[in-house]
Amino acid sequence: MLKRLLLALSDSTWARRAVTHSPLGRRMARRFVAGETLDEAVAAIRALNIQRLAATVDHLGEHVHSPADAIRAADGALAILDRIAAERLDANLSIKLTQLGLDLDESLCLEQMRRILTRAGERRIFVRIDMESSRYTDRTLAICRTLHREFGPDRVGVVIQAYLRRSEQDVRQLLAERIRLRLCKGAYHEPPALAYPGKKDVNDNYIRLSGQLLESAAQGLCPAIATHDERMIAAAIDCANRLSLPADRFEFQMLYGVRRSLQRRLVADGYRVRIYVPYGTEWYPYLMRRLAERPSNLWFFLRQLFQR
Ligand SMILES: Cc1cc2nc3c(=O)[nH]c(=O)nc-3n(C[C@H](O)[C@H](O)[C@H](O)COP(=O)(O)OP(=O)(O)OC[C@H]3O[C@@H](n4cnc5c(N)ncnc54)[C@H](O)[C@@H]3O)c2cc1C
Repeated sequence: MLKRLLLALSDSTWARRAVTHSPLGRRMARRFVAGETLDEAVAAIRALNIQRLAATVDHLGEHVHSPADAIRAADGALAILDRIAAERLDANLSIKLTQLGLDLDESLCLEQMRRILTRAGERRIFVRIDMESSRYTDRTLAICRTLHREFGPDRVGVVIQAYLRRSEQDVRQLLAERIRLRLCKGAYHEPPALAYPGKKDVNDNYIRLSGQLLESAAQGLCPAIATHDERMIAAAIDCANRLSLPADRFEFQMLYGVRRSLQRRLVADGYRVRIYVPYGTEWYPYLMRRLAERPSNLWFFLRQLFQR
């Protein structure tokens, strides 16, 4: 119930205003967001790199309302790519297509992605297209396929959500096309006709799909196993061992501020780990999805508030 409520509130304008203007909201955001400026994100990435954790940077923002905002978001992505290269950071870029105008005009969005991938090519940086709600799955995959044909597998990849019933077929097709994938469970509220409602089914599907991704690792597609769930991680390690897959052929990915000791433990065990580092002022929907994943985070902050 609380999970559904938090996800519904992530779309609400009045709740956004209330949370973003409250000191508690800002404090909660700081746990999951590296800061509001690129300088703060760069400092966070440097600190991660020192611990041998790679990063993928996300300048927060989604569902822009005008073409000018979409172009501005793409300009921001170019600045991130330049900064990653200039500072020699171990980082790549994650981006959402609704931030580049997917809701407004698909060709505008595609054009912005082409600008970003051209610069990413010059800087030799990989760009991951995040997956949003199921309203966007087909369009996101179609745009990724177009870009993959133009820029190749080392430049662009996409995300698959294990909670979607369609994902097994998508994974099979995308891997056959040599498209690099990140596998996550899925963070949006979806109807049961499209997504498994039960955790067990999502987890079973995650394990099945991560097996398919790891089998593709031999072709150099560097699959990303994005989860904080130790059972999913153990299953992926088992599978990699069965396939005799060297640890540098795949990577684990986790979110900034979540399960930090697990991140460090995997690095110490010799695995590659990449941290998703979001920054910017548009943190509200991102924060709500993090709270929905683990509502006890909300109680933790509320308890702190009342104990002060
Ligand atoms: C690198 C990365 C990129 C992602 N990209 C996308 C994307 O493009 N599209 C999309 O829909 N989703 C994305 N997600 C989010 C993902 O879909 C899940 O919602 C999220 O990762 C929680 O699922 P879990 O696999 O960690 O498992 P869960 O079963 O949700 O959690 C397992 C355990 O991890 C810990 N945990 C999980 N979440 C939190 C949290 N917020 N705060 C504190 N502890 C937590 C808890 O200990 C929990 O018991 C991404 C996740 C990662 C790690």
